[in-house]
Amino acid sequence: MNIAVQVCGLINTIVLLIFYNSSKRLMLYKRRIFYYILLITLFNITTDILSVFAIHFSDNLSPIVVEISCKLYLCMLVVLSWSALIYTISDIMPKQKHIMVSSLLAIVGIIECFMVVKYPIYVYNDGYYVFTYGMSVKLLYIFGAVNVCAIWISTFVFSDRILSRRKYAVRLWMGIWLAGMVIQAINNSLLVAGFAASLGMMVVYFLLENPEGNIDKQFDCLNSIALSEYTGECILNEDPFILCNISFDDSAAVKGGDDNAEKKLKDLIDYLNTFKGINVFKSIDKNIIITSTARDKILNVINGFRTRYRLTDACIADSKVIMIEDAHSFTSIEEILRLINYMKSRRSDDAESLVTVTDKNVEDYERHDMMKDEIRRALREDRVEVFFQPIYNTVRKCFTSAEALVRIRNKDGSLIPPGMFIPVAEVTGQINELGRRVLEKTCEFMAGSEAADLGLEYIEVNLSVVQAERVTLFEEIMDTVKKYRVEPKRINLEITESALIQAKDAVLDNMNRLKDVGFTFALDDFGKGESNLMYLVEMPFDILKLDMDMTKAFHVNDKAKSAVKTVRYMADDMKLKVVAEGIENQNELDAFVEYDIDYIQGYHFSKPLPKPEFIDFVRKNNEGCRTA
Ligand code: C2E
Ligand code: MG
Ligand code: MG
Repeated sequence: MNIAVQVCGLINTIVLLIFYNSSKRLMLYKRRIFYYILLITLFNITTDILSVFAIHFSDNLSPIVVEISCKLYLCMLVVLSWSALIYTISDIMPKQKHIMVSSLLAIVGIIECFMVVKYPIYVYNDGYYVFTYGMSVKLLYIFGAVNVCAIWISTFVFSDRILSRRKYAVRLWMGIWLAGMVIQAINNSLLVAGFAASLGMMVVYFLLENPEGNIDKQFDCLNSIALSEYTGECILNEDPFILCNISFDDSAAVKGGDDNAEKKLKDLIDYLNTFKGINVFKSIDKNIIITSTARDKILNVINGFRTRYRLTDACIADSKVIMIEDAHSFTSIEEILRLINYMKSRRSDDAESLVTVTDKNVEDYERHDMMKDEIRRALREDRVEVFFQPIYNTVRKCFTSAEALVRIRNKDGSLIPPGMFIPVAEVTGQINELGRRVLEKTCEFMAGSEAADLGLEYIEVNLSVVQAERVTLFEEIMDTVKKYRVEPKRINLEITESALIQAKDAVLDNMNRLKDVGFTFALDDFGKGESNLMYLVEMPFDILKLDMDMTKAFHVNDKAKSAVKTVRYMADDMKLKVVAEGIENQNELDAFVEYDIDYIQGYHFSKPLPKPEFIDFVRKNNEGCRTA
């Protein structure tokens, strides 16, 4: 009997099925179609072998049994070819639509099977070689060739919508199959069509569907490719799912070395893998992502790992978890990961260990993302400008300093205020470059003859938290002042209290180094929030800037008045100068002058101005003062 080739095909397909079933895998919709095709191929080759047996023993069997077994095999070939088409077009439409289109294709397939069954079939049996022929077989060759060509053509017609790897795999698969059918059509006794089908499946398996490609071998869980495939399919099909990012906090584990951290991460992943109804993915760095369609399953997992590590590894138990409930409403996994990064970088959420992403968070993130791009463009196109707000010296009765305040100039000429982009720039790290530009433009101004002519002693430059704690801050600032040959004492650096709360030691270190070479420092926004007097005691400040809230309260609240009085007294004792910010009218000015506040800054004198207007303003208002 000429069944050696089919037996090889059968073994091939069984081996593929064993591999497929023994791997950890994601049962995605497309994967399921592939799995069914694998089963259909198995069934196809089995019916092929059975039909050969039936023909071989046809003398002992009823003719109807022989005919049924031969036609069953032919029908299975038709089914297989249609399944291949259904599989190929699974990339180009969402699941619901694909199911509908597949049902229509199935109807055509059934009609083809009906015709194959209806027409006569004849068998050849010379004792060793067996095969079938007749109209039914001819029809099969025609349908097979048409279907295979349809699949080929579809990979070209929908070329831009089918994954390029899938296109390649399907074309190879169809090529092998077509070659098998052509050989069998030319030489009826060479029964290679079934074997060619199984060979084609092997190609698709190794090029595209090998579940091993979805496994992170080191941590024995699903990897980022699987994550991208899973989320891609859910998003395309609008299948709701919940996604949770666990930022594995290994700060304690790291003490025992990196190996130790990896061991602990593996232990955590193994533990998460024991839960049913969730997928566990190892994402980039030390992030684990779990997904599920059920919220309670996710919460169960989070509670589970927190409880498990509470006593042994508090750091792991407290790992920050970010949960996105409508993950399918995003456009891609990249967008989801960017949102997660944004959520992680928000300092205000440091205390919460489970953060559920709200619509408001998503809106903020979208604005944040747009602003991030705008800052990038503004930096590239040099649309970052520095405005100067004059500061009045109550002793010399003229303007002796100013605060440098950054602005972004839109392409239409309007301005973006710092309140809109500084918080974003702090999160993205762009604040370092923005800060460098502001210092550079300030130094450029101070290095010119105008600044000295105007009698300006120094300019106040804001330092954000991110900059103030940077280890390279000293070198960066020195590079800029050296480039413009500006004396450090002509730059006063403003730091807010929040910088001190977040990284007091790093900031103090930077302050000391910069003070040693002559820079001075101001504590900005004093009196806003919970001011801690210890910062004034411990940090080498030269100037204290009363926040606008405090100066406003001063006029309506007697307690605020005595607070300002006390601060004034205390500052005197500590040899600190005091600036009152936000002075908007003559009454406010008179009151602060009466309290011997050294400097006044506010709209009463001027809003922050572009350099030329600032120069005009100071020139006009410092008339009798320049030589003082
Ligand atoms: P800040 O450092 O406390 O600056 C003072 C803010 O108060 C400025 O707002 C100024 O225009 C505003 N202001 C001054 N006088 C008055 C007044 O009389 N009435 C009112 N209503 N407002 C007054 P601006 O320019 O919008 O800056 C806001 C904040 O953005 C700054 O607060 C500072 O924290 C930050 N910022 C500005 N430029 C920079 C920069 O170059 N680097 C960094 N890191 N932060 C900056
Ligand atoms: Mg300031
Ligand atoms: Mg301020």
